[in-house]
Amino acid sequence: MNIILLGPPGAGKGTQAKILAKKFKIPQISTGDILRGAVKDQTPMGIKAKGFMDAGALVPDSVVVGIVEERLAKEDCFDGFILDGFPRTVAQADALKEMLVSHGKAVEHVISVDVNKEELLQRITGRRTCKGCGRGYHTVFDPPRVDDKCDECGDGLYQRDDDSEETMRKRLDVYEEQTAPLVTYYSNESLLRSIRGTGSIEEIQQAILRILEGVRE
Ligand code: AMP
Repeated sequence: MNIILLGPPGAGKGTQAKILAKKFKIPQISTGDILRGAVKDQTPMGIKAKGFMDAGALVPDSVVVGIVEERLAKEDCFDGFILDGFPRTVAQADALKEMLVSHGKAVEHVISVDVNKEELLQRITGRRTCKGCGRGYHTVFDPPRVDDKCDECGDGLYQRDDDSEETMRKRLDVYEEQTAPLVTYYSNESLLRSIRGTGSIEEIQQAILRILEGVRE
């Protein structure tokens, strides 16, 4: 099952992708996570990407297409994958189509997760992550028991560099300009289904599963 989760930053794609990955035993491929790993490890790619990411801009297509191409060639993707945060431009979508065709594959489902801008801003600017175990929190919706300390491992929490309000506004503008056209792109290919990304994690998961229903359990 080859799935793309489409939607603005903060729509909950990562959360839903993780649940689907577990359920269908296929990998979640998050270009944002891969890039953050490269930044942390200070690889040449990470050093190049950091400036774009901190500014809320997109990393050049050639870099992310290379990442995805390499990742999709791995054996764990043979039975399917969930792309989370890729493609983000029409050029990336074209490159994806080409690389899949060359392996006799295709995108099968594109699920657009829709959330309005004000809610996205509130969600993202309150987002915090544990430095130790990586568990996510939200200052309002899912706060830790003790301020700025992880409930699980007691380590400190941090805010992603690109989750400040200013950078988030920029990321939303970039989404509108460069990524939203993919809604039409995949509609034209009869692959797109949209769901409302508001409600509980479980409700949103059920909406996604209804779309995938009957495909494979
Ligand atoms: P995310 O975690 O998906 O919100 O991605 C964080 C940042 O990584 C984005 O704001 C971009 O700077 C970069 N990034 C992630 N995926 C892509 C992509 N497909 N194309 C370009 N830049 C990306």
